[in-house]
Amino acid sequence: MRFFRTFDLMNATIGKLKLKGVGQESPFIIAGPCAAENRDQVLNTALALSRIGVHYFRAGVWKPRTRPGGFEGVGSIAFEWMQEARELSGLKITTEVATPRHVEAALAANMDLLWIGARTTASPFAVQEIAEALKGTDLPLLIKNPVSPDLSLWCGAVERFLEAGLRRIGLIHRGFSWIGGNSCRNAPLWNLPIEMRRLWPDVTMVCDPSHIGGRRDLVGPLAQQALDLDFDGLLIECHIDPDTALSDRGQQLTPAELEVTLKALHRRKDAPLAGDIPALRARIDAIDREMIALLANRQDITDEIGRYKKSHDLPLLQSGRYSQIIADRAKLAREIGLDPDYVTALMETIHDESIRRQVEPTPDTSL
Ligand code: PEP
Ligand code: MN
Repeated sequence: MRFFRTFDLMNATIGKLKLKGVGQESPFIIAGPCAAENRDQVLNTALALSRIGVHYFRAGVWKPRTRPGGFEGVGSIAFEWMQEARELSGLKITTEVATPRHVEAALAANMDLLWIGARTTASPFAVQEIAEALKGTDLPLLIKNPVSPDLSLWCGAVERFLEAGLRRIGLIHRGFSWIGGNSCRNAPLWNLPIEMRRLWPDVTMVCDPSHIGGRRDLVGPLAQQALDLDFDGLLIECHIDPDTALSDRGQQLTPAELEVTLKALHRRKDAPLAGDIPALRARIDAIDREMIALLANRQDITDEIGRYKKSHDLPLLQSGRYSQIIADRAKLAREIGLDPDYVTALMETIHDESIRRQVEPTPDTSL
């Protein structure tokens, strides 16, 4: 399964996001309930969070529900509670916007930061409208990944906001809908946010382990993985009484649980690599070169088979042969101690490429 191809990006750089109230601390923490439900819940949660080193208080004002009938948020009344929470707790405040009307209300409420939700990032029309509504403002904005593992949608959203003149942009990784087996609510597929950082090297990366894991007990381990991958910030759902939460009940921590979770996190030291590492890396480099040469050999052979099939008017794909290759390589992987799913995914990528080459029209060299 291939997630992305390299594509050209808009020629604009994104610097590190400087957020009010965040100094050198790393990671910076955004925490708060999935949704603002009532004044007491908002104030009590924010006050408790302000005592444990949180920087930004989050709460959903409007909740995008996949299906109608669930709790859809209390609407703009929540801004009054959040502003009060900011005054009492000293925390900055942030919420999700999904329409120009939300942007207007959030700007009127003087929010410190906004974020774009995963369902919105997946919709270019919605992103464009929000980008236009934000034009001329200098509000920092975090863009969640789209629900599906499609990097061009994520990049497209970044580009639309850049085109609208926004420069204070960061990304939130909240996992992806995924049909493969995974213990998480949304599979982390870490290679995708890592690829985003390769494309936008200085972009601020926030991880949302709550929506990735979907379960309280996964939040800590996922947050640690994010730090190991050098994420700058964490967004964690926290409710003063999670068992009564009107949305995302199973994944919200109490402020006390968040405190324990944050204390257990650690950054690995960024020391120069010594010991055997340089030699081991040299071996990896050599193996990679050999693998690439082998892939080229394999491709020469499949190209030759493709030419034979074409000249004899044979179908390009013989599904029996393909199934046999996949089953055989998965068996071999298991015997050797490799994960068969991993090897199957590699074989699928290799096979996709030979088919792509075989179906592409052969250039007419006589022209
Ligand atoms: C949220 O942060 O509460 C939310 C709705 O998240 P997502 O857009 O990642 O589903
Ligand atoms: Mn939520």
